[in-house]
Amino acid sequence: QVKERGRDGYLLYSAEMEEVAQHSLFIQSELRGAIAANQLSLVYQPIVDSRGQVVCAEALLRWNHPQMGNVSPSTFIPLAEGSGLIEDLGEWVLLEACDFINKLHGNGVPLDAVAINVSARQFNQGAFAEDLLRVIERLGVKSNAIELELTEYALLSNLDVVKQAMEKLRSAGISIAIDDFGTGYSSLSYLQSIPLARLKLDAIFVSKIGVNESSNAIVKAIIDMAHGLNLKVVAEGVETQAQYDFLLQQRCDLFQGYLFSRPLKEADFVNYIESVPVKGLKSVS
Ligand code: C2E
Ligand code: MG
Ligand code: MG
Ligand code: MG
Repeated sequence: QVKERGRDGYLLYSAEMEEVAQHSLFIQSELRGAIAANQLSLVYQPIVDSRGQVVCAEALLRWNHPQMGNVSPSTFIPLAEGSGLIEDLGEWVLLEACDFINKLHGNGVPLDAVAINVSARQFNQGAFAEDLLRVIERLGVKSNAIELELTEYALLSNLDVVKQAMEKLRSAGISIAIDDFGTGYSSLSYLQSIPLARLKLDAIFVSKIGVNESSNAIVKAIIDMAHGLNLKVVAEGVETQAQYDFLLQQRCDLFQGYLFSRPLKEADFVNYIESVPVKGLKSVS
């Protein structure tokens, strides 16, 4: 009977699901100890302007587990969100990134801001804005050195509450970007009602530049719309010179991707910043 049912795929499928669920539980339980075990670190990916100068960095979380090796944040962040671990992880990221900002400033490294990813659940929990403002005050970090990246999912809960928190952050000088723009489910109307600074054009759109007329048209339309709303656009996942050239032509403001640099460890990031003005990236405009 088992075999029979296996043939229609049902049992095989559920066995696979079972395995995935087991693995998820394992990851969750290991993640619980990751902070204390010193397995987490942040890497920083340069964000450049139209001249190729580094103006910002995005902090990206890395988890090196003794048996599993490097586990992707795309795997463990959703699991951390589902289990409530995201609050501790988020706090760790915040403190670590603030530390980095202070180091950069101490060393006179010129950088406008460090962007920090905040998950929907983390943003919507209790008093995120107040907590953040308290932390940066305690650490002596200037609020305009911090940018928060939120996905559209963060806006799906009570928009009035979200808006209030955002306004509190904005008036304190912290800017907010919508991450992975164009991939979420929310409507465009929220763009005019919340205080945003930037849209991050999702890499999926960038990867399709040059593929056909309509994919180019979508990129152009998103950039034009953002500019109409006074928002700057950061293109994510820029990998080729052709993509960069097209984006420059469309007056995209900022760029991030392997064409410029992969995410880097602290020391490598500082070296990169120092080398860029010398190297001078080519640009068409
Ligand atoms: P994201 O915030 O959209 O980050 C951009 C992702 O694109 C990063 O993946 C980065 O390494 C990758 N990337 C950058 N340039 C290129 C490129 O040219 N080509 C390709 N193929 N990929 C590129 P990563 O580091 O694996 O992070 C994945 C996601 O995990 C992030 O997407 C973000 O949603 C989440 N994440 C990472 N760190 C944190 C964190 O500290 N907190 C939270 N809540 N989420 C985080
Ligand atoms: Mg991001
Ligand atoms: Mg993104
Ligand atoms: Mg993403």
